[in-house]
Amino acid sequence: MDQALGPPEKMADRREDLTPMMAQYFELCEQYDEALVLFQVGDFYEAFCEAAETVARTCEITLTQREDSTGEYAMAGIPIENAESYIDRLLDAGFRVAVADQVQDPEETTGVVDRAVTRIITPGTLTEDELLDTERNNYLAAVAVEGQIGCAVLDISTGDFYATSANDPETVGDELGRFDPAEVIVGPDVPEDLVDSYTVSPFEDEAFEGSRATEKVGEYFRAPDRLLATDAEISACGAVLAYAEYARGGTEDRLDYLNHLTRYDPREYMLLDAVALESLELFERRSVRGHGEATLAGVLDETASALGRRELDEWLRRPLIDPDAISDRHDAVGELRDDVRTREQLHDHLRDVYDIERLVSRIGRGRANARDLRSLKATLDVIPQLREALGDPECEKLRSIRERLDPLDDVRILIDDAIQEDPDREITEGGIIKPAFDEELAELRETERTGKDWIDDLEVTERERTGIDSLKVGHNSVHGYYIEVTDANLDRVPDDYERRQTLKNAERYYTPELKEREDEIIRAETRADDLEYELFCEVRSTVADASADLQALAAVLAELDVLVTFATVAAEYEYSRPVVVGPDDPAVEGIHIEAGRHPVVEQTQASFVPNDTALDDDERVAVITGPNMSGKSTYMRQVALIVILAQAGSFVPAEQARLELVDRIFTRVGASDDIAGGRSTFMVEMTELADILDHASEQSLVLLDEVGRGTSTADGFAIAQAVTEFLHDEAGALTLFATHHHDLTGVAESLDGATNRYFETAQTDDGVVFEHDLTRGTADASYGVEVAATAGIEPTVVERAREVLADETGQPPGETTRGVRTNGETTGRGESPRQSDSVGGKPKDEPGSATGGQTAAHPPDGEGADIFEEIRQADIATMTPLEAMNLLATVQRRLESRD
Ligand code: ADP
Ligand code: MG
Repeated sequence: MDQALGPPEKMADRREDLTPMMAQYFELCEQYDEALVLFQVGDFYEAFCEAAETVARTCEITLTQREDSTGEYAMAGIPIENAESYIDRLLDAGFRVAVADQVQDPEETTGVVDRAVTRIITPGTLTEDELLDTERNNYLAAVAVEGQIGCAVLDISTGDFYATSANDPETVGDELGRFDPAEVIVGPDVPEDLVDSYTVSPFEDEAFEGSRATEKVGEYFRAPDRLLATDAEISACGAVLAYAEYARGGTEDRLDYLNHLTRYDPREYMLLDAVALESLELFERRSVRGHGEATLAGVLDETASALGRRELDEWLRRPLIDPDAISDRHDAVGELRDDVRTREQLHDHLRDVYDIERLVSRIGRGRANARDLRSLKATLDVIPQLREALGDPECEKLRSIRERLDPLDDVRILIDDAIQEDPDREITEGGIIKPAFDEELAELRETERTGKDWIDDLEVTERERTGIDSLKVGHNSVHGYYIEVTDANLDRVPDDYERRQTLKNAERYYTPELKEREDEIIRAETRADDLEYELFCEVRSTVADASADLQALAAVLAELDVLVTFATVAAEYEYSRPVVVGPDDPAVEGIHIEAGRHPVVEQTQASFVPNDTALDDDERVAVITGPNMSGKSTYMRQVALIVILAQAGSFVPAEQARLELVDRIFTRVGASDDIAGGRSTFMVEMTELADILDHASEQSLVLLDEVGRGTSTADGFAIAQAVTEFLHDEAGALTLFATHHHDLTGVAESLDGATNRYFETAQTDDGVVFEHDLTRGTADASYGVEVAATAGIEPTVVERAREVLADETGQPPGETTRGVRTNGETTGRGESPRQSDSVGGKPKDEPGSATGGQTAAHPPDGEGADIFEEIRQADIATMTPLEAMNLLATVQRRLESRD
């Protein structure tokens, strides 16, 4: 990659001889040697020499040769018209792209056209709509160490700007994980592993340096040291702003729309670290994009606008921890849920809202065209309608939203007066400003119009004057206006006609008066076009002055959209209003959910079985057992998602939920459940576990799913037991622990505040059926053999396995009791009697007799017996589907070889 950057060596060798254009290219490459320079030549962006090869390869376009007086160069060009798709590929390949545009009209120069870098495009500084995803923010982050660790996060395309800091790298890492930045820049001394899962771009250390950073922040915000809490934050903010300026290349693009910076403390929100965000599948994350999996945000996404869509993610990734703020949101959701008409009207109007955050950012940077202003005006038109639809709301939240829905009449009227209804896309060629907006413009357009009218009439008057019926008046771009007379009529041409052009069968003329009129039209038109551009820039800049108000309006619209969305979802999927109280409120202790559902799984499952949850001081830890596929993981995630939804301000999929605030959710999903994520080592598992044990408190909810899988059974059990005891005795966290280590149920029984739950399974003729119903107590059969039967393992094999199991546990094979023990009847570790359940209640026959119409012999000695032994020893509860299939294949192969 490096060799493609910087000026091409080949040109360096003959630097003195380069043609002026190549010299310009060389210089720009030298100046922007960290980027790939795309050099405008007419309708193309070109790259030369090594860079051309890179571009051709990455973008899959043809490499050509160019020859000039100084030699031959490889060249690759991408069409400007759809440059974005190619630039996207270059970014994906890890390049920064410096776009060098022609900044001079080729007609205005005889020499080489001036070019300048107008944009440096990097993953975190995108502003081009074509390169951006409307549904998510595109964040650039800076991390700085300055005493503490500071973190600044900026979306240049929307103006969203946040800063925070912490003493420990973990907290900053968690915050980064929430923002999921597209690009990160780091100052000196930033621990590498803090940012190693992101695209890290090199940037000058000086930008992070204290006084430089303070000065930079000061250019945008008054009193940086009061706005921001720590030097580390100032350093990060200064650097992020410097990088944003760097990205605008050599232009003077204004960035003063970046006038709103939110400084926050991570402790103001429920903490969800990257591991939790991922395992709870809240939304698609950049790191796992293309997963295409159903997510919570996907289910909830009834938003009407791009503003609302991004805000929804924001609310989910930052659930609140202030009970009053939460209940304010719930009030609004409830009111909107109950008022279908209002809700639907609001939704319809919100659909007419453009992405004004990004509009305002373009307006602020001076990159908006007249259509953008019209879109802004169309959005402002919606505001009174929204206010009317809201009517006179009951709750405080909706009243305040109504109050804050300011239609910004000045801006709206200005745009409406100035900008044409359906303006041109270009802003330098007229067709964008209403003539009535400006007296001079009106006069110029009038002159233009009367001139054109006169010319329109000319054909008739000249035909009359000359008597030539075929005489035509026309216009072409090279010669301008002309009067055309066919050769047959040349004798009737009057004296004042001057020849302009000769055609095959006709002559073209002009008259002094036509010429005069034409000049007048051109003068007026050119001046009017220029004037329109000037006026447009003035209007745009006036609108930009209101960017703080516009951004505040965008925030209100986003908030309203999410509340309407929550209300719609609550009505559509029958969610109920949760009660959420602070830790000091005696009204609720712990987590109490009646008939809770998993919001995402219930959408895909024909019949979802609701389950209850009760965790409180008496029972803070619940150990959940049940065979594979019985619903353990789903259940645990469902509890976490209900808590997140509730604290984000949404209603929840449950009949009733009474919740004490949770300030942090920890999740740890056992190694083999997480293979898709590519993190399957025992080490990762233990590192994350250590983090949980370090940080879990009484306000935390901890989900442990099959922890201890990554190692041997004995180790795994030992770790699981120790962890359970610690969480129970020391941390006091609300904990759900799903495990296949059946023995762990004994541990729960021995602890005061721990309890056992298990998933019911039912026996039918077809084998085990998962009822997904959680029950107090423990099921002591592992059901492994029954799962094998359900999976379709040869019946004789299954039958034999039952016998072996029965032999081993001393349980007669005919015994059909459901292996259920209730809490209290403690069985110590390792003593748990195994039981096999009968199939469909049919008593089992003697070993080796026929079952299900299949005749099978006694398991033969030798080879065959090994198979049974192997199956018996297989720990189905911990196997991956692939391992199970491999085992099955082995069995089949061996059975075949016996025939
Ligand atoms: P486990 O973790 O015990 O192996 P999962 O939670 O992964 O089981 O659930 C396995 C499958 O069972 C899920 O993919 C889902 O389709 C289904 N399932 C889980 N819980 C329920 C439920 N409460 N009601 C209906 N189906 C469920
Ligand atoms: Mg599971």
